[in-house]
Amino acid sequence: MYMLLRLGVSRLAARRFSTGAATTTAHVPKVCIVGSGPAGFYAAQQIIKSHETAEVDIYEKLPVPFGLVRYGVAPDHPEVKNCINTFTQTASKNRVTFLGNVDIGSDVTFSQLRQAYHAVILAYGNAKDRTLNIPGEELSGVLSARQFVGWYNGLPEDADLKVNLDVESVAVVGQGNVALDVARILLTPMDMLRKTDIPENVLACLDKSQVKYVTLIGRRGSQNVAFTIKELREMVNLPGCRPNLITGDYQHLKDLIPSLPRPRKRLLELLAKTALDAPAPALASAWASAQKEWRLRFLLSPVEVLAEADGQTVSGLKLAHNRLEGDGENQRAVQTEETETLECGLVLRSIGYKGIPIDSSLPFDHRTGTIANDNGRVKGQNGVYVSGWIGTGPVGVILSTMTSGFTSGKMLVADINSGQVDVSSAKGGKEEVLDILSEKGKKPVNFSDWNRLDKFETEVGAKLGKPREKVTNVQKMLNISHD
Ligand code: FAD
Repeated sequence: MYMLLRLGVSRLAARRFSTGAATTTAHVPKVCIVGSGPAGFYAAQQIIKSHETAEVDIYEKLPVPFGLVRYGVAPDHPEVKNCINTFTQTASKNRVTFLGNVDIGSDVTFSQLRQAYHAVILAYGNAKDRTLNIPGEELSGVLSARQFVGWYNGLPEDADLKVNLDVESVAVVGQGNVALDVARILLTPMDMLRKTDIPENVLACLDKSQVKYVTLIGRRGSQNVAFTIKELREMVNLPGCRPNLITGDYQHLKDLIPSLPRPRKRLLELLAKTALDAPAPALASAWASAQKEWRLRFLLSPVEVLAEADGQTVSGLKLAHNRLEGDGENQRAVQTEETETLECGLVLRSIGYKGIPIDSSLPFDHRTGTIANDNGRVKGQNGVYVSGWIGTGPVGVILSTMTSGFTSGKMLVADINSGQVDVSSAKGGKEEVLDILSEKGKKPVNFSDWNRLDKFETEVGAKLGKPREKVTNVQKMLNISHD
């Protein structure tokens, strides 16, 4: 049986299996990681570095690795994806095995993993998003930014999303970096987008887009925007596009700015300058001839998505005016009776990603969408850890996720060394899991398989003058990977 399975796993893994099963590896710590985004890969890197013999298996539900680096980070930010080089190095270590196309919680249960490994790190990110819970949210012209991002990044589950861009005005609810990403993709000239890895079907749709105005809506004031300076600067300088900002929303920033910490200060300085100062001549002339606009609106909460007479098509977003109560950390936006309507044909909800539970035995906080943990150790579960967004919620960039991954990896190794994680008994590791998968007729994708798909995508992309053309259908991915 093992012989057969060996053929289905990576060449690296096969080499290791051939050294003999349980007897020679009984005391080698067998660790598995659920999820192959930054949180999973950085944790694996740390474990391999800090422990001389530990073996790490990374399970991934998709046939491809890298999580949101492949499917979240904007296609026009390829430099952000350079961390993939480090992940690839980690995957090539002979104590690390990547097993894609394995959905933990469905193909293999968490308790089966617990049985097969000495320790488990949960690094499976946030697969859902928060909802507004307002009337009209179910209309087809209301999408989550998560789906929209998945669509333009070629995520299989969103690859065939119906996105109606035959509209002039789009409302984006939220003012974080994801909101700015989707606004930028909607407003960027096609000649720039064609150089990215946005799938061809999505480029065709964007090419026909009628979108001229994108309005980003925030609950609180301009001082509370959640995006960062790099993303704002890109919007300010976006070719063919100008900001349309209401000066009264920014006057108070001038008094506030001097007392702020540096990154926030620089961000709000740029925001205030953009809104209040005359642009340099070159920018002024670019803005004057621009055909498209981005707008920021503040102190507004969506209360209803309005439909045309057909009851199907979005015609606008009803917004309640908010007032701010309290100070500092305790400041809250409180809705008033006053409302206004923003005319738009598409609403994108960008109010945060959200984790989901994969097993009822795990302590899950449904309010925050996270697994309850003490700095990475899952509460009440010895030998189980979290890393990245499933432990922290959807906050932080790849750098902070790296810190989270390193922390969890170090903690796990410390617990092995202190005896808190018991490695005295032999564990079946991936061989045990592969038996379970084999019985279900499920064949994992190993890292060599992924390399094959990667090569295919980059070759097809090169012919189209882009970095890659992603395969967006899971079966097709498997066919190419397993070829
Ligand atoms: P993820 O990256 O989501 O990885 C989780 C992995 O787990 C996924 O591959 C998923 O398929 C897998 N998985 C899920 N469920 C299961 C299961 N049941 N079994 C097996 N596997 C499973 N950061 C930056 O630094 N720069 C940027 O420009 C940037 N842009 C971003 C744009 C968007 C739209 C988003 C949403 C985030 C962006 N980030 C950016 C943040 C960055 O992507 C995150 O910090 C990071 O990806 C979080 O890593 P993670 O490993 O926790 O989650």
